[in-house]
Amino acid sequence: NARTRNVIRLMDERLPDDIIRLLKSAGEAADELGYGAYVVGGFVRDLFLVRSNEDIDIVIEGNGIEFAKKYAKIHNARVHTYEKFGTAVVIFPKGFKIDVVTARLEYYRFPADLPIVEMSSIKLDLYRRDFTINTLAIQLNPNRFGTLIDFFSAQKDIKEKAIRILHNLSFVEDPTRVFRAIRFEQRFGFTIGRLTSGLIKNSVKMGFFQKLSGRRAFNELRQILEEENPTPAVERMHDYDLLKIIHPDIKPTRKLIADFTAVKKVLAWHDLLFLDEEYLRWTVYFMMLIRQFNKQKSNEICQKFEMAPKYQVIFCKERFIADQCLYWLSFNKSLKNSELYRELSGFKVELLLYMMAAARRESIKKIISHYFTRLRQITTSIKGKDLMAMGIKPGPVYREIMDAVLDAKLNGQIKTCEEELDYAKVFISLTMNT
Ligand code: ATP
Repeated sequence: NARTRNVIRLMDERLPDDIIRLLKSAGEAADELGYGAYVVGGFVRDLFLVRSNEDIDIVIEGNGIEFAKKYAKIHNARVHTYEKFGTAVVIFPKGFKIDVVTARLEYYRFPADLPIVEMSSIKLDLYRRDFTINTLAIQLNPNRFGTLIDFFSAQKDIKEKAIRILHNLSFVEDPTRVFRAIRFEQRFGFTIGRLTSGLIKNSVKMGFFQKLSGRRAFNELRQILEEENPTPAVERMHDYDLLKIIHPDIKPTRKLIADFTAVKKVLAWHDLLFLDEEYLRWTVYFMMLIRQFNKQKSNEICQKFEMAPKYQVIFCKERFIADQCLYWLSFNKSLKNSELYRELSGFKVELLLYMMAAARRESIKKIISHYFTRLRQITTSIKGKDLMAMGIKPGPVYREIMDAVLDAKLNGQIKTCEEELDYAKVFISLTMNT
């Protein structure tokens, strides 16, 4: 009762050759073991949406772990297995990963003691998924390679741009799907279907989210804030009265939307200039979300979400130091480079980006961006060993000398390595004589 058609041509057009080769080889390896193999979920969805996606999930009808080991051997890849769940990750020599799961032939037990249903294992695996658009599978076995299997009208829903759950108890089974619905809706410009929308409202009203652990709820929220543009998803969370799970006082006011827009701009600016610099973009948005709260309330939010200590430090400590610094900068605009460096060098990238976005005045944004693009990476060329060669005994004085040299370099007084050495010598002779 599944709709099938062959999509080899579409795959050839839209997927890189090396991915197709890996998929074909997975089908061959599965065939040798007598197993069915399918690529499923987000990867197939994105093939139809013409969005690149290299997260490959393979479902095996058979022993997924045995398959993963065989497949890894063929490609000289490593494999991590999770026996208890029948899952594995195959890690190729260049770091590329493929997830493998076992589709077990078992019976689906609905919540609330509804009748038990028997299904084929791939169908059952897909039935457990969150939304119809994520239920497409493409068979990989050689004689059926490229056969698209659509049990749950996924193609229709992709065409209609609709996010729909597979059965009415979906949100009871897993309330995190509500956040996922909003995230996918906004990412793809889809609309949550009418029945699905009604069920979301119902689950909010019934308080299903109270059952959700802080950690799981936060994990979903974080993923929303990691989207390219999280603003509309936050507005949607408000439509469904979901922002209250962070704090009842959070509303998508004009101010919050303007702050989010400012963050988006600053992050785009950063990513263009510093392509390879890694940072946690969601933390910058989260700082904006909780900007109105004092330390105590911020702490309560972090506790509720069971956040790791490194995030608590950002949200409950460093954010307040950054706000103070912003305030201080507004009174001290004609700083020397060395003074600006001393003020800002202690902040993580995330905090600097937060400050740039939060600064209302253009002149302050400029000061921070000047530090970010020009001063941040400046270091002294001379090192401790150069001071040792001058016969200076190692100790705290090294720090003083280096700081003085760095200040002079930041302020443009010296440039070359020789100038640094000369500067250090003069500094030593002056300070050591006094
Ligand atoms: P993303 O691009 O955000 O990674 P994705 O669709 O690949 O999107 P994942 O979170 O990586 O999503 O999940 C992989 C697959 O697992 C999804 O396609 C979905 O079918 C399934 N899945 C994930 N979370 C759930 C859930 N809470 N309930 C049911 N199925 C889920």
